[in-house]
Amino acid sequence: MVVIDMYDYLIVGAGLYGAVCAYELNKKGFKCLVIDKRNHIGGNIYTEKVEGINVHKYGAHIFHTDNKFIWDYINQFAEFNNYINQPVARYKNELYNLPFNMNTFTKLWPDVFTPLDAQRKIEEEKYKYRIAEPKNLEEQAINLVGPTIYEKLIKGYTAKQWGRPCKELPPFIIKRLPVRFTFDNNYFNDRYQGIPVGGYTQIIEKMLSGADVKLNCDFFANKNELLSKCKRVIFTGQIDEYFNYCFGALEYRSVRFETEVLNCSNYQGNAVVNYTEYEIPFTRIIEHKHFEFKTNLSKTIISREYPSAWSIGDEPYYPVNDDKNNILYQRYLELAKKEPNVIFGGRLGQYKYYDMDDVILSALETIKNIV
Ligand code: UDP
Repeated sequence: MVVIDMYDYLIVGAGLYGAVCAYELNKKGFKCLVIDKRNHIGGNIYTEKVEGINVHKYGAHIFHTDNKFIWDYINQFAEFNNYINQPVARYKNELYNLPFNMNTFTKLWPDVFTPLDAQRKIEEEKYKYRIAEPKNLEEQAINLVGPTIYEKLIKGYTAKQWGRPCKELPPFIIKRLPVRFTFDNNYFNDRYQGIPVGGYTQIIEKMLSGADVKLNCDFFANKNELLSKCKRVIFTGQIDEYFNYCFGALEYRSVRFETEVLNCSNYQGNAVVNYTEYEIPFTRIIEHKHFEFKTNLSKTIISREYPSAWSIGDEPYYPVNDDKNNILYQRYLELAKKEPNVIFGGRLGQYKYYDMDDVILSALETIKNIV
């Protein structure tokens, strides 16, 4: 039987990684079929317009990068506003600015006025712990900001997010958070930042405009038929699922969102408020309109974010990149190398806690290498 390839590439997953690949391949004259098991494109950066507000259906996505090339790249597909993420943390009845900066320190300690005061305070606080080389997130956090900030702003939030105590988590997670001795509430250190005017879905739409897209299409349920039509595969789903969990499942964290439309124009005065005490089951409340400065609307939409355990069949959000899982991933990677016609990419395909700019960079590099 002669099987005729109709597509050069099958791209499994219509999220950011898959969409960048489709766009670049199309530009180079390759024909792509993009499938997604969901009923919409965009993966977890999907936004949906409700009551005039772009709702981040799978959690807040704030684009930030230090890479001018990536910034210019994403700006081809949408105009970005000047949103700067400045989350507020609520611990019991106290409110603090994030990331940890002079605004946080002066609110926390009434005798702190200057950067030197703050540095001294933190040094004084952490002195008794004398941690030379932090081996877990708790030690890393205490080393960075001392025990008071750790107790109020890190311990509960992190334990909720990851479903285990900070002592059992790798230190690198907290390294995402800046510590500054200036009055600067910008959550990111990156030079470029913003939210696309009109939401993220339009970006993916444009990236996919040259490809054929099939939604509600599960790769595993239609594998033989799909593979018979396509020469090569770019797989952006879970690498462990691709190999039928043959070495056991990698661990992920999942998230559940409780979204509400409220008859109030301004619920919390900020796009992101983190709830850092352990006893409150959600980690943060997102008020979507503030990403777009739509303060004139009479209604608002909020999403409470509840981290949850993941098991096979649930939606995976975060890879748990501790040693145990990274070693297991390496075993899957070895299997992947034996499949020359399949490229594994994105947060799930590469089991990496990627930000959006890293995803784009990685997709562009993949295409550069294979073409
Ligand atoms: N984190 C924290 N308190 C906060 C916010 C973040 O302790 O109020 C820690 C927590 O360990 C979390 C990590 O910082 O896992 C990274 O947070 P980020 O907001 O960057 O996570 P994401 O936005 O990717 O969910």
